[in-house]
Amino acid sequence: MSSSPTPTFIKEFFQKNSPHLKVKINQPLAPYTSLKLGGLAPVILLPKTTSQLKTAWRLAHQLDLPVLILGSGTNVLISDTGFKGIVILNTIEQITIISKSQKKLETKTSSGTLLSNLVSFSLEKGFKDLLPFFTIPGTVGGAVLNNAHYHQELIGSYITQVKAIDKQGKEHLYSPSQLGFAYDTSRFQKGGELILEAAFKLTQPAEDKKKSLQQLKTYLLERAKTQPTGVYSTGCIFKNLSPEEANKLGLPSYHAGFLIDKAGLKGSRIGGAVISPKHANFIVHRGKATAEDFYRLIQLVKAKVKEKYGCQLEEEVKLIGFEERKNG
Ligand SMILES: Cc1cc2nc3c(=O)[nH]c(=O)nc-3n(C[C@H](O)[C@H](O)[C@H](O)COP(=O)(O)OP(=O)(O)OC[C@H]3O[C@@H](n4cnc5c(N)ncnc54)[C@H](O)[C@@H]3O)c2cc1C
Repeated sequence: MSSSPTPTFIKEFFQKNSPHLKVKINQPLAPYTSLKLGGLAPVILLPKTTSQLKTAWRLAHQLDLPVLILGSGTNVLISDTGFKGIVILNTIEQITIISKSQKKLETKTSSGTLLSNLVSFSLEKGFKDLLPFFTIPGTVGGAVLNNAHYHQELIGSYITQVKAIDKQGKEHLYSPSQLGFAYDTSRFQKGGELILEAAFKLTQPAEDKKKSLQQLKTYLLERAKTQPTGVYSTGCIFKNLSPEEANKLGLPSYHAGFLIDKAGLKGSRIGGAVISPKHANFIVHRGKATAEDFYRLIQLVKAKVKEKYGCQLEEEVKLIGFEERKNG
C-alpha cells in the first residue's frame, strides 16, 4: 500500500539532503498571495540562494509530489483547500551586468527579483526601456511565464535568453525563438520547468532622468485612475481576446473588461468577491471572501459573457487547487 508521505517526513527528507534549506510545514498560503486567499500547503520551501533553489526543485521532484513555484503570488487564485504538494517560494534577487555602454545595457536577472526593482536598477544605470513595467507587481519569473504586458508593451521584447531547469535537474538556455512569447503566453505555461534567470538587452538611453521619473509617476497615476488600488486583487482576471477573434464574432471590443462591463456585471458580487466598479476585469477581495467566492464569480462572468457575446473568456490568473472543478 502506498500513501503520501507526511509533512514531517518530507521536512526530514529536505533537512537531511539540504541542511541549510528553510522548510515550513502545514502553513496557509494566503499570506504569500496578493489576494490573501489560499488554504494550507503541507510543505513550503524557502530557499535563500540560487543553489538552494535548484536543490529544492530537484529534490522536490524526487518525492514525486506536485510542485508549485510561487514568486510574489500576484497572479494566482489558490483554493481554500490549498495545494497538496510542495510549494517553493522564490524570492532570490540578483541583477548582474553583462555589458554596459552608452547605447546598451545587458543584464542577467534572477527570477525571484521584483520586476519593479529591475526597472529601477536599469533606470539608475541610464536606460528607460522597461519603464512601462514599473507598476506591475511580482517577480521576473512570473513576468516571464506570462510575458507581462502593459498597454502594448510585452516584457518578452527585451529578453534575449532565459535559463530554466527541468524536473530532472537539467539546465536549459532558451533563445527568443524558443521562448514562445506572445500575448500572455510563453513556453513555460505548460509547466515542468523552473525559470532561473532572464537576460535583458536595453537600448534606450534615458538622457533626461527627470523626464523618466515623471513618466513613472504618470504610469502610477494612470493605474490609480483606471484600476482599483489599495485592495487585494490579482490584476486582470481574464485575458483579452485576440482582435481577430473579436472581429470575426463582430464584438464591440476585444478587451475582456469592456465585454464584462457591457454584460452589466460591474459591482456583481458573490460573498466577498466583487467585480470592481472601476475596472470590470478586476475582481477584488472585500470583507471576508473565500477563494470559492472568487471561483464562482469567475464562472458566472464566463457564463454571462458567453451568453451575451458568444465568446469564451479565458483566465489570465492561474487557478491552483481547482483541478477537480475545472469542468464543474
Ligand atoms: C494590482 C495588480 C496589477 C497587475 N497588473 C498587471 C499588468 O499590468 N500586466 C501584467 O502582465 N500583469 C499584471 N498583474 C499580474 C501579475 O502581477 C503578473 O502576472 C506578475 O508577473 C506575476 O508575478 P508573480 O511573481 O506574482 O507570479 P506568481 O503569482 O507567484 O505566479 C504566477 C504563475 O507563474 C508561475 N511562476 C512564478 N515564478 C516562476 C518561476 N520562477 N518559474 C516558473 N514558474 C513560475 C507560478 O507557478 C504561477 O503559475 C497585476 C497583478 C496585480 C495584483
